[in-house]
Amino acid sequence: MNTATQLPVIERVSELRAAVEAVRRRGGSVGLVPTMGYLHEGHQSLVARSAAGDDLTVVSVFVNPLQFAEGEDYGTYPRDLDRDTEMSAAAGAGLVFAPPAEEMYPQTPITSVTVKGLNAMLEGQIRPTHFDGVTTVVAKLLSILGPGRAYFGEKDYQQLVIIRRMVADLCLPVEVVGCPTFREPDGLAMSSRNVYLSTGERPAATVLWRSLQAGRDAVVGGSRDPGEVEAAIAAVLAAEPKASPDYVAVVDATTLDRPDVLAGELRLLVAARIGRARLIDNLGVSCD
Ligand code: AMP
Repeated sequence: MNTATQLPVIERVSELRAAVEAVRRRGGSVGLVPTMGYLHEGHQSLVARSAAGDDLTVVSVFVNPLQFAEGEDYGTYPRDLDRDTEMSAAAGAGLVFAPPAEEMYPQTPITSVTVKGLNAMLEGQIRPTHFDGVTTVVAKLLSILGPGRAYFGEKDYQQLVIIRRMVADLCLPVEVVGCPTFREPDGLAMSSRNVYLSTGERPAATVLWRSLQAGRDAVVGGSRDPGEVEAAIAAVLAAEPKASPDYVAVVDATTLDRPDVLAGELRLLVAARIGRARLIDNLGVSCD
């Protein structure tokens, strides 16, 4: 129990199962919001969405070692469980599940969930083991809790598409709810990793959002050539000397394939490094 909020903080799988089972026995519905903690208003919007429709909202706070590669920021990823618990309570959560790594991985896992192809493009090209770590831990959390709904942000758009596909392929009995990206007033997508930005770098970080808007303007202006739209996005990124782009992509919103001619629902995606921070963002565009 967090004494400031009176919100239960559960570390053990068996205790979590018992707590969730008690709610279900009474006929209550359960929603899961998986996070890596260091919560912000974007996370809270997912929690509030669950709290509006589910009888019990569980926020998991777990920095999952499996989804970080050697040399990435696993060790330095920001952590503050007391604050996370308060923010979860404020947004309407009923409990926080914060397992230590040994609880989630009591032995080195030799079972893994892989969503082939989708895990290797875009983010997967830069972080080849990342999505297998994500799908494995999400499958595990779904298996532990058995929620009726699980909430994911469009902020991590490729992750959302991959989770939807995993749930469909494995017939998992859960509804995946995609939630819009919460942004700072200047357009920067909220992210726990924004703390890595120095004061001098922070204004430059809006370049991702500005570049996506330039891409959307190109589509709305009539461009149907993905290369042309990508060039419009890349030009804005190139004008910001503090940003080093990793990729710019214009893809089909469902398959993540790059079409020859733009049509239907599209997603524009960018990733760039600014100082220590590696930032990603995306924007949906409808193209008729
Ligand atoms: P993370 O803690 O970064 O793994 O994120 C946990 C969940 O919150 C994921 O489903 C993210 O997509 C979602 N999320 C992160 N940032 C935002 C944001 N700015 N707006 C909405 N959802 C977000």
